[in-house]
Amino acid sequence: MNAIPVLPNYINGQWYTSSTTEYLDVVNPATAEILAHVPLSPASEVNQASLAAAEAFVTWRRTPATERVQYLFKLKNLLEEHLEDLARTISLECGKTLAESKGEMRRAIENVEVACGIPMIMQGTNLEDIARGIDEMMIRQPLGVAAVICPFNFPGMIPFWFLPYAIACGNTYIIKPSEKVPLTMQKIFQLLEKTGLPKGVINLINGAKEAVDAILEQPQIRAISFVGSTDVAKYIYSRAAANGKRVQCQGGAKNPIIVLPDADIEMTTRIAAESAFGCAGQRCLAASIAVTVGEAKHTFTEAIAEIATKRVVGNGLDEGVEMGPVISSLSKQRIERLIQQGAAQGAKLLIDGRNPQIAGYERGNFIRPTILENVNPADEIARTEIFGPVLSLINVDNIDEAIALVNSGKYGNMACLFTSNGAAARKFRYEAEAGNIGINIGVAAPMAFFPFSGWKDSFFGDLHGQSHHAVEFFTQTKVIIERWPNEWSRQF
Ligand code: NAD
Repeated sequence: MNAIPVLPNYINGQWYTSSTTEYLDVVNPATAEILAHVPLSPASEVNQASLAAAEAFVTWRRTPATERVQYLFKLKNLLEEHLEDLARTISLECGKTLAESKGEMRRAIENVEVACGIPMIMQGTNLEDIARGIDEMMIRQPLGVAAVICPFNFPGMIPFWFLPYAIACGNTYIIKPSEKVPLTMQKIFQLLEKTGLPKGVINLINGAKEAVDAILEQPQIRAISFVGSTDVAKYIYSRAAANGKRVQCQGGAKNPIIVLPDADIEMTTRIAAESAFGCAGQRCLAASIAVTVGEAKHTFTEAIAEIATKRVVGNGLDEGVEMGPVISSLSKQRIERLIQQGAAQGAKLLIDGRNPQIAGYERGNFIRPTILENVNPADEIARTEIFGPVLSLINVDNIDEAIALVNSGKYGNMACLFTSNGAAARKFRYEAEAGNIGINIGVAAPMAFFPFSGWKDSFFGDLHGQSHHAVEFFTQTKVIIERWPNEWSRQF
């Protein structure tokens, strides 16, 4: 008897077993245990969800915003109540530590809280007497059905950059989680169901390419949000746009941090290590290159090497563990190949974290923190997104060279500067070509009330996730110009 659960989809307020015969294993990256089977749902199930969402939209958009957000207030309380269980599920399927998973859920909840303010933030504008006796107003109306396609690395947080805003603005919604980590969204949908949201307002479709392609083609779906790797982001952006859909795609990253000689080295190395090795380097805002300027090289290199060596690696659910495994054995092999290639191209392997033995977890996808020194900025290790706990060190002579190096990369998700000099900080903030900037900050992740602002190959589109941007993305503006001649009122 097979005790491994088969995950259902959630369409029109009901849980359904997919009609597919194709499934993938959901695997615990720390133990290699199979946690569930996830269906690769066919296009017909995306169509079914879209039709249900389109039908639900008719009533949902007429539901006052003040009523719509009551479901979000309930959701916020349910998420708080179940935070521990949700965090454990994230750690189980994604590998990160329990503290990291709890932090992730806090960020998800923060977005629900912001979206509860929709009756204020969705308001339009107006001006009386644009000409004598004529008034003009701009209102925001929902689009209809919208969908999000999610990556594996934040199964609890990333859908919340979009979902609360989409439904609070009066849209109906479809979520396609990553097929690698679908369990967290199963649990979140059980909570969404408890809020009593009308059927069809939220729908869950598990799957991979076929489901995504159906989302891109489905005529009912008016807007698509995507978060994932750059190649897939470009594909989704172009195909969704060709089909006339509104689309925002957040892509990959290769985030540099610059360390000036006047930086507080104890604080800088602690923060830089957390950025590079936290979540096993699988954050889109993970520091991947540290550019030291002049004398900073010696102090920084020595201090970060020490912190990296001491980091406790293991099962993210175990007490005291500071870094979990990477998501899959394929990912581990790819990261180890890139480390090997970096060393072969001339970088010095200062700390080699490949193939560690983690007692009790011999089948896990573990890599310890790894540091390569004297990396050539032109080499693949310095230009490719590694998405693992690997930091490349590059030394330059001055801040101009450092900023030029930052701006030479094709990505623009984040760039950080460590310094105690305000003028250097301002210069960096002004000149660095990245959408999220940190000054003495290692993971410059915008709070829910600011947009998550990737640039260059880290973002395709115009409006980002979270905050006012999300409200604009999930609404269309309508301008009304009215003339009500004064003499018409004389009859009363
Ligand atoms: P991925 O691109 O492999 O997958 C993301 C989603 O796209 C999944 O739901 C997957 O099913 C779907 N998909 C994958 N290949 C597809 C294809 N050929 N056609 C259609 N759909 C496809 O990304 P991932 O490995 O799950 O996540 C890691 C990536 O996400 C990294 O590059 C990371 O930088 C990026 N990311 C970016 C941000 C950001 O804010 N910019 C945030 C988190 C993660």
